Amino acid sequence: MNTYEGHTPGPWKRGGFLGRAVFAAEKWVATCWEENAALVADAPMLLAQRDALVKGVKAMLQLEERRTYELKPCPCSGCKSLRAILKEIEATP
Ligand SMILES: [Zn+2]
Repeated sequence: MNTYEGHTPGPWKRGGFLGRAVFAAEKWVATCWEENAALVADAPMLLAQRDALVKGVKAMLQLEERRTYELKPCPCSGCKSLRAILKEIEATP
């Protein structure tokens, strides 16, 4: 189980006084400062986007490594950067 498994499913919306509360449907999720509430409310969407990007980047790297099979892993700077980003994301507990 990773850090985010089991969270209340999105979408989450801001509400309450000055938009400081975050709700999932009618269920309260959190209350915080306005600026943070915007980020918290977007968390399920951002997590889904991150997961989709990771999946897409992994697929692209596999294709790239098939293309450059003699140099596996591909040594180009783009692939190196993407592998570093994936490593950082996958280190998230
Ligand atoms: Zn490459």
